[in-house]
Amino acid sequence: MSKLTEFSVHSSNTCNSKVSPTETRKSNPTVTAKKIAVIKGDGIGPEIVTETLKVLDKIANKYGHTFEYNHVLLGGVAIDEVGMPLPPETITACKNSDAVLLGAVGGPKWDFGPGHMRPEAGLLGIRKELGLFANLRPVKLFSALANACPLKNVTEIDMVIVRELIGGAYFGERNTFTDENGNKVANDSMTYRDFEVERVAKVAFDLAKKRHNKVISVDKANVLDSSRLWREVVAKIRMDEYPNVELSDMLVDNAAMQLIHNPAQFDVIVTENLFGDILSDEASMLTGSLGMLPSASMANGGFGLYEPCHGSAPDIAGRDIANPLATILSAAMMLRLSLNMPNESDDIENSVNAVLDQGYRTADIVGKSEAEKCKVVGCKEMGDLIVNKL
Ligand code: NAD
Repeated sequence: MSKLTEFSVHSSNTCNSKVSPTETRKSNPTVTAKKIAVIKGDGIGPEIVTETLKVLDKIANKYGHTFEYNHVLLGGVAIDEVGMPLPPETITACKNSDAVLLGAVGGPKWDFGPGHMRPEAGLLGIRKELGLFANLRPVKLFSALANACPLKNVTEIDMVIVRELIGGAYFGERNTFTDENGNKVANDSMTYRDFEVERVAKVAFDLAKKRHNKVISVDKANVLDSSRLWREVVAKIRMDEYPNVELSDMLVDNAAMQLIHNPAQFDVIVTENLFGDILSDEASMLTGSLGMLPSASMANGGFGLYEPCHGSAPDIAGRDIANPLATILSAAMMLRLSLNMPNESDDIENSVNAVLDQGYRTADIVGKSEAEKCKVVGCKEMGDLIVNKL
């Protein structure tokens, strides 16, 4: 099976970010001291990140590396402690690191503040500040968890969704006003520039070359101007630079259906921010649990922020029942994509597979029919099992 996360992010002078976190940071196999900014965040964030740091410590020990962790605040805990969701010190610390590891942010406690004082504002802000333009979500059905897939007769799902992360409707101009007839009006604009499409398309094509050479670009080109530009730019990049990669276009409504109808047809999906947000959550359900899904958000040059796809799960926080595997697998992506440590990354992924094969499960991934033969463990014990397997 292809390595889901193996690819490189092009260095490009078309990035509009003011940040260049890794411009001067070239991979050097002899240097093994790496700085990692760590954001535990809210809800289950501290629990799952603590287990992940245990795993990274074991990797450091086993392979002779030094990981220097710089713990910083983001989200609800930052609002509580310093009165803002994204403190400037957090931005500085992340920019001065080789990679960022994040748990999750948010929770009901902060749901009623003004938009700029919500945890999500911190999340959107850090993506923009770090120029994290491509979000990669591998969606893979682990063989030991095949029963967890809600679809009948599906045994293999192995795709990566590449979502544009700092453009489109989430970052477009918006306003709310009352018009001359007294109607309340709200506007959100979905804007894309050619270079924004180009750079994320290149990530998708590079990734496909290391997998099954197939990209499906998802848009709504039958209706939206931004999608017509998207389609045109993706086709041109493919023709100019990736003639051997198979490319097809799919409308987003059809893609939503095809993910359920025939998920095996997808290798690499590339799409804009809003469509990617929705489709990647839909696809994640195919694997049975959000608790298994890692993600990487990449800037130019290989710098990235790594976090699980799930949120802060406030309903189970502090009970030692959260699944830490999505965060541990996110750390494996970090080792591969930002820290140039592919063997170490493989080691973590293999350990996760082995522990699942032995029947260990956190509560969220126990399939009903397999409950009797599974050993249900908590968050800490799952972390220990991975550490011991390494
Ligand atoms: P969620 O992903 O936190 O939880 C959805 C369901 O999945 C819950 O039942 C939860 O218990 C379960 N779950 C999630 N992760 C799990 C894990 N590791 N192990 C076991 N079960 C797990 O989504 P939500 O409930 O919609 O959102 C909760 C909060 O998280 C909100 O404030 C939301 O804004 C925030 N959020 C943050 C991020 C992020 O930090 N990137 C992403 C999504 C949601």
